[in-house]
Amino acid sequence: MAPDMEDITDVQKKIFDIIRDNSVLELKMLLVANKVKMDFVDENGISPLQHACYKGRKEIVQILLDQGADVNACQHNNAYTALHFAALSGNAELCHLLMSYGAKLTATNNVGRTPAQMAAFVGNHNCVATINNFIPKADIDYYIKPQGLQTESMLPPHLADCFHKFVMQVNVHPVRVVMNLQMCSGLLENAAKVQKVLESMRHKIMTRGAETNEVMAFKYHYLSCVVSEVIKFQKRQEAMKAEKIEKISDERDEKKSDTIEVLIRKFLKCSKSDGTPEYQEAFLRDVVREFPYRECTIFRQMVATLAALDPPSAVSVVSAAINGQRAFFDNAQVCVTCGEDKASKKCSKCKTVKYCDRECQRLHWFMHKKACTRLGQTSALSAKVSDADKE
Ligand SMILES: [Zn+2]
Ligand SMILES: [Zn+2]
Repeated sequence: MAPDMEDITDVQKKIFDIIRDNSVLELKMLLVANKVKMDFVDENGISPLQHACYKGRKEIVQILLDQGADVNACQHNNAYTALHFAALSGNAELCHLLMSYGAKLTATNNVGRTPAQMAAFVGNHNCVATINNFIPKADIDYYIKPQGLQTESMLPPHLADCFHKFVMQVNVHPVRVVMNLQMCSGLLENAAKVQKVLESMRHKIMTRGAETNEVMAFKYHYLSCVVSEVIKFQKRQEAMKAEKIEKISDERDEKKSDTIEVLIRKFLKCSKSDGTPEYQEAFLRDVVREFPYRECTIFRQMVATLAALDPPSAVSVVSAAINGQRAFFDNAQVCVTCGEDKASKKCSKCKTVKYCDRECQRLHWFMHKKACTRLGQTSALSAKVSDADKE
């Protein structure tokens, strides 16, 4: 049997090389030709899966997981798990993939740090936020089956995946939350059920003994408040429509999205001269105030920050509370409509504001059109001034 052992060792070596070179096709071919158990490690106790995670190679990681690699196996000298390595790589999607395969969020390495703490340590904030916002699928599955005396489930089963994504969203800007709700039309039509489930999740996570999570409880509370606001708007719009009794159109979907747009505009509108969106600010402050767990650190911190002289915007306070301390909304790369990071499109006329895409620009135009020309002139002027400085 000795020659066979030799062969396997060669194959094992080859696998480490393939991961280093990111040769996806070669790996696939090798696995078709050879039966390989993925439980071997190199001289430092690092498995192929952990190597691929450290390099941030999502495609290879997927192949290894399909091949049966154990996501929590850990023989590493310093007790790093695959998720620790992924967190260090900075690839947030990879972290998400590992967690969806059951990677433990609380595993600690030899210096007592969790994957999220390692990610924070090296400044990979997207990984921190992705890990902290992760929710196991089982938490959602509970709501798609009738429980106890219920005759029907709290959430229609076909909405499970969509709802799961909705609650794990990292960007909690109210406009983005409303847009996400709208993107899956089933969620919007079942807004009342969605809101009830979120309230129940808020309660559940605060009543599970040692494993309570006040940050997630606040996030569920926050999302449930945004959904409530949407429901309020739907009702108000419907009442207004009923009064007018205009010719009945069968385009219900269009009516619904009209409602959403009215709400988004309200969230965006700044009536104060300093550019504070008043309605949004008041809404978010109410959300914080209505959080029922008043003894929580997160509640006290938010209230204290918002009560300070010259406080930061409520949206940045809420976002920081959920995603960790981070000067998110001061960032020049942020979409002015929805707060999404790494917005790549600029207003072509004034070149002073950024958007994710055309939709975000369209939604913001009613606000921006007044400022666009003026901002354009100012930025052109300052460009000229800096040119003159150079000469
Ligand atoms: Zn946007
Ligand atoms: Zn502009």
